[in-house]
Amino acid sequence: MTKIKRLWLLLWEQCNRTCEYCCNKQNDLSNLRTARNLFEYDSIILTGGEPLVKGMDVLGIIDDVRKNMRKDARLYMYTAKTDNIDLFCMALDKLDGATITLHTQKDAENFRRLIAVASHVFEGKSMRLKVFRNVRHPGDLPPQFRLIDNIVPLAKCPVPDGDFMRYEPGMLFSSTVIGKLVDGITERSNTYLYSEHEGNVVLFSRFDDNQVLQISHEPYNYPTISASIVHMSDYELRRHIIDDYSGWLIVKSAVGSPLPTDEGGYIEDTEDM
Ligand code: SF4
Repeated sequence: MTKIKRLWLLLWEQCNRTCEYCCNKQNDLSNLRTARNLFEYDSIILTGGEPLVKGMDVLGIIDDVRKNMRKDARLYMYTAKTDNIDLFCMALDKLDGATITLHTQKDAENFRRLIAVASHVFEGKSMRLKVFRNVRHPGDLPPQFRLIDNIVPLAKCPVPDGDFMRYEPGMLFSSTVIGKLVDGITERSNTYLYSEHEGNVVLFSRFDDNQVLQISHEPYNYPTISASIVHMSDYELRRHIIDDYSGWLIVKSAVGSPLPTDEGGYIEDTEDM
């Protein structure tokens, strides 16, 4: 079975609470990398702090993330804030689902009010309800919910199952940019496609109208470097890249220059396209 590739995307650290057991107090978040390329993830989870603590700001962020992730990937949110029913519903409408945590009895009351007046918003969504041990069970749940109760604060927060990065406005690598980069492939001699997470690199170099040299080093899939000549028109090559490598970073480089080793190299090499 293929493993789902997850990204935990921290929107901000601000929260309307100050829980002693908050994982953000245990971990140093100052070194979190800023997310750039969302196309490789099957599942993206918006987290904080509290994603809904800054009012309507979150709606624009959800739109930005949605626009710059794969169409078949899923987008979720972790929240503990259900007192603003309108805001919660507007956010959930743009998501594939959410996990709601009830830390206190007041949260349970807010949640009960939410499901009483807005149960329709859960249709087609994947919902989880996490209830802390000291909170009374909120009663009948809409069928979309999976209940995880008796939660207790952990002395040591578990490492998230997946990557953990920070969201910053304007920093996501957009599909429009990918399109421009792919369009540029025939205008210069070389194009590297570079997958930063599995160390994969593929180089295409056109040497006549119909032939392209392809050199691949994908250690996870194939343990050797392979080279082949592929017969492809410009159009076919673009399609091949879009269909098979859309989740990869695309790096243009002059012949003989070193392969990029970090995001900085990637930006420098592609800015002028
Ligand atoms: S609600 Fe969550 S993010 Fe906010 S302080 Fe508590 S544990 Fe931390």
